[in-house]
Amino acid sequence: MTQASVSFPAGAGVREVQHFINGRYVRSESGRSFPNRSPIDGALIAEVHEAGRPEVEAAVAAARAALRGPWGSMTVPDRMALLHKVADGIQKRFDEFVELECLDTGKPWGDCSHVDVPRGAANFRVFADLVKNIPTEAFTMQAPDGADVLNYAVQVPKGVIAVICPWNLPLLLMTWKVGPALACGNTVVVKPSEETPLTTTLLGEIMNEAGVPPGVFNVVNGFGADSTGAFLVEHPEVDAITFTGETRTGETIMSAAAKGLRAVSFELGGKNPALVFADCDLDLAIQATVRSTFLNCGQVCLGTERIYVERALFPTFVARLKAAAEALRPGAPKDPGVTLGPLISQEHRDKVLGYYRLAVEEGATVVTGGGIPEMPEALVGGSWIEPTIWTGLAPDARTNREEIFGPCCHIAPFDTEEEALHLANDTRYGLASVVWTRDLARAHRVAGRLQSGITWVNSWFLRDLRTPFGGMKHSGIGREGGVHSLEFYTELRNICIRY
Ligand code: NAD
Repeated sequence: MTQASVSFPAGAGVREVQHFINGRYVRSESGRSFPNRSPIDGALIAEVHEAGRPEVEAAVAAARAALRGPWGSMTVPDRMALLHKVADGIQKRFDEFVELECLDTGKPWGDCSHVDVPRGAANFRVFADLVKNIPTEAFTMQAPDGADVLNYAVQVPKGVIAVICPWNLPLLLMTWKVGPALACGNTVVVKPSEETPLTTTLLGEIMNEAGVPPGVFNVVNGFGADSTGAFLVEHPEVDAITFTGETRTGETIMSAAAKGLRAVSFELGGKNPALVFADCDLDLAIQATVRSTFLNCGQVCLGTERIYVERALFPTFVARLKAAAEALRPGAPKDPGVTLGPLISQEHRDKVLGYYRLAVEEGATVVTGGGIPEMPEALVGGSWIEPTIWTGLAPDARTNREEIFGPCCHIAPFDTEEEALHLANDTRYGLASVVWTRDLARAHRVAGRLQSGITWVNSWFLRDLRTPFGGMKHSGIGREGGVHSLEFYTELRNICIRY
């Protein structure tokens, strides 16, 4: 029988979040737990068990054992059928997933039900279908004695994969890794962010309902450094580590992965530029830039924190983006007309407000925002923050160079295409970039010279899951998406047969 993962003790209203190990929900041996507070009003929403070394040990052992069990010998069609059942299970409990994701992150219900949860299900379907149809390479040759020889390649699972996730898109980014990892026949131990454990933990129930064998999908809850995350990535029985989060954390995890030469796949931070040329479709550019800067309260790795606008259009663009930012409506996820949620936590708000102050110290003109909005009394305990736009900063200002991960951007004018490219590429990051122009030749020229893993032209956040995804420079290592995910989650072997 499936136990409840995210339990609702009668009357208390505070959920108890356990680990999911070997198909069962378990508490920590140490009895240690930590509070999970709502970013909407600061209320306590859950007590989360913190996994110590014993729980990490148990989860990795279960994942290792499952590789030798029915999961390891399952045919590809049967495995893919199970993953489709997992996607069906998410769809069946769609509202429950949306509810928990909104509770954890505070994001508007509409965003969560249009983006996060549908993508959570799609991540299983897409990779299940992809793996079923993957071709293999084969070469024929002749041995020196004239015998025929056939070489062919096979992809085998890498083994036990540690999946370490951030809090901005909890279900979406976790399944983006778990979907292909399981499709390739691996087993996983997932460590969700300590800020957002709910939907990942609930997924355990879906796995059991779908009939995924115990040990294939495990969840350990806890913090990163000196806690669950560190214990997991240091574990010698983990074969590979896939991580999404801050660049600095990636560096720490990479040092841990060096021991035992474990493979890593990293999706890291960004300070993404948008280049707006005067010939662009301005309505479209404004509409999309409001999203690329303020969606999810600016907590999107692909978001645009640096916007460069051709000088002739600069005053109009600033005025239009200001009006659009001021029209955003902060509020609780289900409040009608709400378009802006809070930041994830008070701690993160302190960090973002620190940048709001720094921008002013560095000489920025505050076009709009810069502080905390007035909220109804019931919500004042939440981590609300104003959407903010600056102009007038020097290119080397820290506000212009460091990832803030809040609802804010700096807008600067440029005169030539060359200057725009120089400004855009003058960063240690290289995750995403956006170009707005009606000139097709310029679009190709500029897109070709931007240093980022993905460039959108006249759009933003259009994602085809078959395409490579990842960052250049300090924004990542490796690519996931489509067949590129399969490259990371499998070992490619060559078999040479003389006959
Ligand atoms: P974070 O690096 O602080 O934490 C991410 C995860 O790593 C959490 O689960 C955390 O507990 C864990 N962790 C922290 N220290 C660890 C350690 N020493 N060992 C093992 N695990 C550890 O990131 P965050 O604040 O949760 O997320 C925001 C960051 O994520 C931003 O920098 C953002 O750009 C980035 N991000 C990148 C992408 C992308 O695709 N490139 C997507 C989303 C978010």
